[in-house]
Parts: sequence; structure tokens; C-alpha cells
Amino acid sequence: MTARLDELRGPVPPVAHDARAIAALTVNPGCARRAVLDAAGVDKNLTARHLGFAAPFGQSRFAITRGAAFEALVKDDGCAELLRLLRDLLEAPVSRAAYHDVSTVEAHLRHSHTRALIDRAVRGSGDTGAFFDHPVLRLRIAGHPSHLEPDVVIFQFGGRFHIVQIKSFAVIDGQADPVKVAAAARQAAVYVLALRELLEELGHDPGRASHEIVLVCPKDFANRPVAASVDVRRELAALRRQLARMTRVEKIVAALPPGVTFDLARDDDGTPTRPPAELADAIRRVPARYAPECLSTCDLCLFCRAEARERGATGLLGRRVRDELGGVASVEEALELAEGTREPSPEQEEVAELLRLAESLRAECLAAG
Ligand code: SF4
Repeated sequence: MTARLDELRGPVPPVAHDARAIAALTVNPGCARRAVLDAAGVDKNLTARHLGFAAPFGQSRFAITRGAAFEALVKDDGCAELLRLLRDLLEAPVSRAAYHDVSTVEAHLRHSHTRALIDRAVRGSGDTGAFFDHPVLRLRIAGHPSHLEPDVVIFQFGGRFHIVQIKSFAVIDGQADPVKVAAAARQAAVYVLALRELLEELGHDPGRASHEIVLVCPKDFANRPVAASVDVRRELAALRRQLARMTRVEKIVAALPPGVTFDLARDDDGTPTRPPAELADAIRRVPARYAPECLSTCDLCLFCRAEARERGATGLLGRRVRDELGGVASVEEALELAEGTREPSPEQEEVAELLRLAESLRAECLAAG
């Protein structure tokens, strides 16, 4: 299986998953295309660009600079401000906390250094706290260990660990953008899971990594930080389910004709030389499950949206509509079933009846209007 996944990717190292990518798996869990590309470690961003469908992601320079300044403020002086916030939020009677910045260690040693620090923290946890900044964690994705370099701080007190995410979106009148909070919670769940894996590997109770993560954001329109805890148990359950499903990519891969590959055939400078049309054909062989949510989570979103438009796929109308029209592949087919011009297959009987009812109600409303 590993050999076939390597063949699908081509002769380049697999792309490491970041937490955003792993968290996105839970947004569209039924997509076989994404599952295969991620399991093979294909560079989806480069693939989308080579296909002519570059994803519209990324922050403005202004947002990046503002975010970096806010993070520096929170972490200043060995996370002194962060300690004050956490003491209040977690009701932790901790007067001081050690600060360890893993990024000061050579890159190839960061994971083992993080391991040693976490192990030592569990064994020696007393009434002093500790911050682990830029830790390097590892999570198994489709059977492969994937390194995560989270832009988070781990806080330990009394042998319990909390993932702390510093975000630059504002909390105004006690409210933050729910979409951004949900995305942060999904990402934090990835780190909690990776930290639990590490604790388990070290022979410690994985439950020491709390499901209550801490989100630190600027308050109102000032740069003053405020902290809130977020329960990520639901996100953890969704993530575990999705990771378990990813091990089943074997079946999807086995169904691909021999010779299919997503290799970009790079030249000596690393520039892809593969004809885009040929690559697009290979990608289309793995079924996608496009939904508008892909637009904020997956690098291939514009490619898959164009394909869904060509096919008139029901997913274009949103995940809910697609799921409710299960078994009906296109909008055209749904309209024909609603108008009674298409004979439903036995498994479409129920949905066809609902569509006919909706169509007659619509006709009634139009007539009354
Ligand atoms: S954009 Fe395409 S590959 Fe990515 S999750 Fe959506 S349907 Fe799947």
C-alpha cells in the first residue's frame, strides 16, 4: 500500500500535513479524492496551481504583521501576560512558569526535544507551571507519522496540559466570529490528539491533555489580550472518526487503474512539466464530494467546483441539500424527478416522492401569488 501511495505521489517527499489540513478532513469527511491525495502526501496546493485552479487562500500582509505583533505581546517576557490570563481562566494557583522555546533547537531534533520536555513535565509536575512554545508533535495519518509544527503554546500545570492558541481575530463585546472560533477549535483538536498520542507513547495517561483548549484573542478594538476556554470534545470525536476512515483509502486506491499517478513530473528546478490535462484526467478518476465548504478548506476547491458545475452536481447547493438528495447525482436529475419526467430507481422512490410534493407546493404558491 505504501509503495502504491508513493507511486501516486511521484518521486518527491510527501508533503507534511499541517493542522489546518488535518482539521479540514473533518469538514468534508466523505471525499475520496481528498483522502487519497492526503494519504499519498501529494502537494495539493502545487497541484491546484499546475491545473490552473490556484486556491484563493492566504492572509494579507497587514493581517500577518498585526497577528505577529499580537502574538509577540502575549508571549513577551517568557509568556508573563499569558500566565496572568491562564491563572485567572484556569483558576491555577501558579505564581511562575518555566518557558521552553523548542524552535531554538535544531529542526531535526525538535520532536525528540518536545518529547523529553513533556516527559519531564509529567514526572516532575509540582506547583510550578511550564510553557512549551513551538512544540513539534506527531500524528499518524493513514498509517504514516506526520510531523506537526503547531503555532501554539502548550501550558502545563499540575501534570495537566492545555493547548493555547493565539489568534488575531478580535473578541468584540464578548463575541468572536463563530466561523473563526470553529476553525480554531478544529485545529486545536488536532494538537490535542497529537499530544495525547505522545503522552500514550511515553506511557502516561493521554487524558492529561485537556479537551479544554485556550483561545487568546485581542479584546474589542485594542490589542489587549483576553482568554477563553473552548471545549473541543466534539471536534476530537469528528477527527478520530475521519482518521479512522482514512485508513480505508486502500480500497479506493485498489480501484484505480494501474499506471494512474498524480506525479507532477518536475524538471531539475522542481518545476512541474506534466501536461495539466493529463493530470486533471488522473485526478478525476478519484470521486470528489464537492460542497461550498471546500472553498475555505481545500486547495483543490476551484478545480472541484468547476467539475461539479460541469456535472450540475447537487453538492453545489450545499452539503445539506446534497445529503438530503442522497442517490440523486445532479440538479437536472432532481428537477426531472420533481416534475415526474424521469422514472425513479427503486432507491430514489422516497426522495422522488418528496421532490414531487415540493414541486406541487411550489406550483400552488406560484398560482396563489
Ligand atoms: S475541494 Fe475537492 S478534493 Fe477537496 S474536499 Fe472538496 S471535493 Fe474533495
